[in-house]
Amino acid sequence: MNDSMDSMPLENPQHRIAALADQCVQCGLCLPVCPTYALDGNESESPRGRIAIAAALARGQVSASAALREPLDHCLGCLGCERVCPAGVRYEALLIETRALLGPAPERPRFLLEIVKRPRLNRWVQRLARWTGASHWPRRILPASWRAALALASSHNTSKPNPSPPLPRKVGRKAGIVALFPGCAASVQDADAERAAQTLLTAAGFQVVRMPAFCCGALDRHDGAIREGDAAAARLQRAWTKSGADCLVTVTPGCLSTLRGALPGVRVDDPYRLLAEHIDELSFEPLPARFALHVPCTQANVARSDTALMQLLQRIPQLALTRLPAPPYCCGAAGSHVLQFPERAARLRESVLMQIETLDVQGLLSSNMGCRLHLAAGLQEKAPALPTLHPLTLLVQQWIPS
Ligand code: SF4
Ligand code: SF4
Repeated sequence: MNDSMDSMPLENPQHRIAALADQCVQCGLCLPVCPTYALDGNESESPRGRIAIAAALARGQVSASAALREPLDHCLGCLGCERVCPAGVRYEALLIETRALLGPAPERPRFLLEIVKRPRLNRWVQRLARWTGASHWPRRILPASWRAALALASSHNTSKPNPSPPLPRKVGRKAGIVALFPGCAASVQDADAERAAQTLLTAAGFQVVRMPAFCCGALDRHDGAIREGDAAAARLQRAWTKSGADCLVTVTPGCLSTLRGALPGVRVDDPYRLLAEHIDELSFEPLPARFALHVPCTQANVARSDTALMQLLQRIPQLALTRLPAPPYCCGAAGSHVLQFPERAARLRESVLMQIETLDVQGLLSSNMGCRLHLAAGLQEKAPALPTLHPLTLLVQQWIPS
């Protein structure tokens, strides 16, 4: 299917959507892995239902009423469906094309997202959240999206990681040059993980070049704001060319798909696979503890680096891990979904929190910033003392400099 589509590019977006949708044989094998189908039990909130709606919209058989676009707006983009589909339906491409056709959802908190995309303003929101506490704002003053954003920002650093060790002295070129892309919100919220990646990649023999911090365009592209997404892609291409690197990494798997789309032919990965390829260069202090390892949808379905991450964490002697979540996976954070639909996001999170509650663990690890903050915000009520960390932060804490 992909070959014929690629060899005959379709200029018209409606034709492209219809061609993508026609690959679906309606077998329903994707339904059991779809978190929104599990939440509502409606066919229209399933991958198969969304594909049928997209096809009908693209063919002009129905008009884009609020009731029809709502299931498309609710989609988390977790790509559990794409991973299991036996017909090879390119669901992500179909979703992005369809949202571009419809334009951003009415619930999209544009102003808030413009702040999230700017690291300096993002720091300001983080300070405001820590100063006020998210729950102290009366409902009538702040819209739900803002209260959700403050809850995420104030959940940061439920643990206090040790300061990162200094960069290793040997800054080699033997393993290649890596461009580290900090992103937008992640450059603020995942600053510790970014420093950890820099340290560990250098120790593994890479030269690391830090790129400027800006939004990769995922927030816009996944919400149907394609012009803004294209502008971000152009900025990224310029920054990549300047970097002189061999490959690009991000510590946030949620950005990976957009980064790969903007840089065709470039190796774009998360740090785990690179580190796992040079695992013999790294050694770690023992840690006699049990942690829950939350594997975000984008890490499992896009980065596909969960095995490499497990390999690295298992190099920490005495560390025991329990992998989460059980299907149908998504915690509900899903880019801007947690800001657009905070009530649905909280319902999706509940099943993951219940899984954590049944475990006797000393901490929670999750690579994706949005997932980690969303889960940490939920844990503030249920298990406020449980630290939440990026796995790279734990790895660098235990790393033994050579
Ligand atoms: S698994 Fe693939 S072919 Fe089957 S219903 Fe889902 S999207 Fe369609
Ligand atoms: S991307 Fe996730 S939420 Fe959306 S249809 Fe596929 S499985 Fe369901």
